[in-house]
Amino acid sequence: MALIQISDPDKSVAFNKELSVGIDLGTTHSLIAKKEGENLVFFKDNNNVLIPSIISDENGKLTIGDLNSKNSVKSIKRLIGVTSKELHTINYEDLELDSSEDLPRVSLGNNKYNAIELSSKILSHLCEIAQSHENTSVNSAVITVPAYFNDMQRQATKLAAEMVDIKVLRLISEPTAAAIAYGIDDKKTGNFIVYDLGGGTFDVSILSIEKGIFKVLSTKGDTHLGGDDIDRLLNKYLLDNYPHLTKLHKTELYNLSKFLKHGLSNKNTITNEKHNVSIDLNDFNKLINPLIEKTLKLLNEAIIESKVDINDIKNIMLVGGSSRLKIIKSTLNEIYKINILDYLNPDTVVAEGAAIQAEVLSGNAKDDFLLLDVLPLSLGIETYGGLSEKVIHRNTPIPSSSEKTFTTFKDGQSKMMINVVQGEREDISECISLAQFILSDIPPLVAGAARIKVRFQVDADGLLTVSAKEETSDKETTIEIKPSHGLTPELIQNMISTSNNKAENDKNYRALKESIVEAERAIYAIEEALKVDSNDLLNQTELDLINQAIDNLQDALLSKNIDTIKLANDNLEKTSEFYVERRMNNSIKSIITGKDINDII
Ligand code: ADP
Ligand code: MG
Repeated sequence: MALIQISDPDKSVAFNKELSVGIDLGTTHSLIAKKEGENLVFFKDNNNVLIPSIISDENGKLTIGDLNSKNSVKSIKRLIGVTSKELHTINYEDLELDSSEDLPRVSLGNNKYNAIELSSKILSHLCEIAQSHENTSVNSAVITVPAYFNDMQRQATKLAAEMVDIKVLRLISEPTAAAIAYGIDDKKTGNFIVYDLGGGTFDVSILSIEKGIFKVLSTKGDTHLGGDDIDRLLNKYLLDNYPHLTKLHKTELYNLSKFLKHGLSNKNTITNEKHNVSIDLNDFNKLINPLIEKTLKLLNEAIIESKVDINDIKNIMLVGGSSRLKIIKSTLNEIYKINILDYLNPDTVVAEGAAIQAEVLSGNAKDDFLLLDVLPLSLGIETYGGLSEKVIHRNTPIPSSSEKTFTTFKDGQSKMMINVVQGEREDISECISLAQFILSDIPPLVAGAARIKVRFQVDADGLLTVSAKEETSDKETTIEIKPSHGLTPELIQNMISTSNNKAENDKNYRALKESIVEAERAIYAIEEALKVDSNDLLNQTELDLINQAIDNLQDALLSKNIDTIKLANDNLEKTSEFYVERRMNNSIKSIITGKDINDII
């Protein structure tokens, strides 16, 4: 008899530990980090944890992070998930673009690349750095994206990672990552502000954390406001005040500005001996004040939109290299009197949060907590009359699923077009259509009798699946939505803020559309009835009267005035009351006819 071996449970079994990392894929800089218990490691490239998000062509070979290359592209993050059609909505600065395909291509060296390909080069470079330090390959990663990134931008980021064989454990939003790094987890509750001023972008988010769910209550920002703008202002200031600097090379002037700016985050005056220039904090603050004011205005708008009382906000977290500017902390302190968290390095805090989540999601952490992100824009379907009926609302924690029942508009309607839309507005033409499909073979029933259940499912990465089923026949159609529209942050922000501004407008619009649908339904019902029995039940004068009321209602519909439509609809109802009554009597008569009198009594 063969002996069965039983292993000793106390003996530790050697197992292949996975390398899971957190990646902050930034517009200006990118970072890669690993968390292992108490140990947090930022992997360095050329001795620097901040790896410039610059891609250069060196004789046909792409390299990452070379600030001095003449042949390079930067800020590629602005372009990710944006289609050629949407290019006009973003400012892509000095990139040379070819928009002859769906995704625009950037010229670099002798080749042209799209933003997904270029981002994948950055991601692959980051992983190579981690791999050379750890002597093992990267298995999986948590990658951060701005809170306002839509499905398309998220999917494009995920695709960039998958193209270079990085398994994406989760995409999480940057403010959420910062909050995690500050130890705000499932045990804490409350509202927080994340103020993120980077190199080229400003993002402010109001987060709420409750029962392990991070909700982005509101997000505002400016995709062209950051450290680069400050450098430009300072360049001009220096040229205006120190004419001898005009002979400096552009890069040298830029480096001088950076030196002075960085110095003023911990000194009150800064001097550069070589170029014989100096600037004090007061002058500098006066110079950059308009930019800071812009960020404060956006912060205020975000607070208002979140509907959170300022006294119910626990902390402001400072994120991004430019949040080191002294004026930011002092102004925020002065205005809001909310405790500011800035003890973590604002350059690395997002990557740190991503690394913490990577450790949790790869199963390597002992203390794990559930993290849920939310849907950035509402998802719904188009209903008769061109209105959007929301099925899953913006800011719902994902994964999530929801269903709604719809019905047919016409008698015997056998097909239904399901148009899946994304956006906040009631009017379908103001939303983005993600996909359209047809549910066919609906059994012939009278209008309003069919029961079509439409189910939306969004997974943890924001991927949407829609299914529709006619309940009386069990006929089902399912599709997976892959949005083909690249929404820009500007467009998203615009869509959200117009929906707020136009809330009143939208309400009126909805009421008008509903009255139109109601009127069309009434006309349809009466016309169908007239076809059946007008000859038997009405004389010519009565028929003319009803037809006149229908004509009046049809004219009223053209007026697009809700009161006129309602009045004409009421009038049609009143005019045709006697006819409806006769029809009812008639149908009772026809039931009675032919039946044994004993069956009825
Ligand atoms: P992004 O997230 O957009 O990639 P970062 O968060 O890395 O950007 O921020 C980069 C910006 O931070 C640069 O404009 C840089 O000059 C600025 N910055 C870094 N350190 C300081 C400092 N000490 N004072 C002021 N600005 C700083
Ligand atoms: Mg950043």
